[in-house]
Amino acid sequence: MSVDGSLDRRKQPPPAQSAGNGNGVVQPGVGQYAANRLRLNPNKDHKPDNYEDLQLEFSPLLFSSLEQYLPPTMLKVSRDVKLQYMRHILLRYSPEGERLRVQRHREYRQKIISNYQPLYRELYTMHAANFFVPSFLKALSDNTEESFRNIMVEPAPGIYTFEMLQPNFCEMLLTEVENFERWVHETKFRIMRPNTMNKYGAVLDDFGLETMLEKLLDDFIRPISRVFFPEVGGSTLDSHHGFVVEYGIDRDVELGFHVDDSEVTLNVCLGRQFSGGELFFRGVRCDKHVNSETQSEEILDYSHALGRAVLHRGRHRHGARATTAGRRVNLLLWCRSSVYRELRKYQKDCSSWCGECQREKKERQRLSIAATKMELLKRDGKATT
Ligand SMILES: [Zn+2]
Repeated sequence: MSVDGSLDRRKQPPPAQSAGNGNGVVQPGVGQYAANRLRLNPNKDHKPDNYEDLQLEFSPLLFSSLEQYLPPTMLKVSRDVKLQYMRHILLRYSPEGERLRVQRHREYRQKIISNYQPLYRELYTMHAANFFVPSFLKALSDNTEESFRNIMVEPAPGIYTFEMLQPNFCEMLLTEVENFERWVHETKFRIMRPNTMNKYGAVLDDFGLETMLEKLLDDFIRPISRVFFPEVGGSTLDSHHGFVVEYGIDRDVELGFHVDDSEVTLNVCLGRQFSGGELFFRGVRCDKHVNSETQSEEILDYSHALGRAVLHRGRHRHGARATTAGRRVNLLLWCRSSVYRELRKYQKDCSSWCGECQREKKERQRLSIAATKMELLKRDGKATT
């Protein structure tokens, strides 16, 4: 175990799904209620209130039974306060809550797009020949595993790096983001940051780049992911979260160890001048094993280079070391598959991608073979005596 490995274990947050650790996307519109939580085990001594006299969007019985799961401090407050607390939790998980959230986010985007004046209009629709380097374009037009492998390096299993964006495109996108941030600052518009881990950076989809990034996913990232990440929905990626993150001493400095809320993540360095800021990777893990130890072959440190992309599974544990000088901006595309997410609910075997599940499976097989051998030896022994 390296020094990094043991450091990692202290810093490792719980898995994304346990919420509140900063791995998921910001849930717009939930606001102050985002932190509302329930306890894991019910307080059986608590006598719940009755909600049957109220007109509610959920069954009154649901509120009564949910009460036992309220945090201790919430048990003694008034019925109305408890009701609001539980309502917001339920809304987060109900189709109605989801619908409201989506609607509010659409309004938020619309407000930005109708007020913000883009600097480079040509960035907002896909111009592949102007965006990508020729080697990348060639590999994609050939569209075979071999043509992809020709432009890629796989420095550790499941991590692919390749030249992707033209320096000129990187510079333009950077300047556009700066222009957007100037507008945000001048108009005092309150923007949502890309995720709960980064205080700086911007969601590209929110100020008009959604269509272009959709094209990037459909025509470029999905064909590659279909070949390299089929077991995590690589061929059915159908939505994305596109954003930039900014690192430097006057920005976010580093990023703790985490997994992404994505099936596949594309991470491209847009520049400019910086030192430090290496990415470190520590193996792919399912929810259950997100904090398990790193095997030595899983350790990888990667230094960013302008225009060069890193493609990996969202569940590949990683973090970014401190950017010690200058400013570093990276483009991130979290690619998701709704089909895969639906299937995951029923499928429990992660051994096709989780390093720890794989290790456990091999160990079980080894033990079973050993037991069979033992059994055979015993039988042989009996037969000869
Ligand atoms: Zn696992």
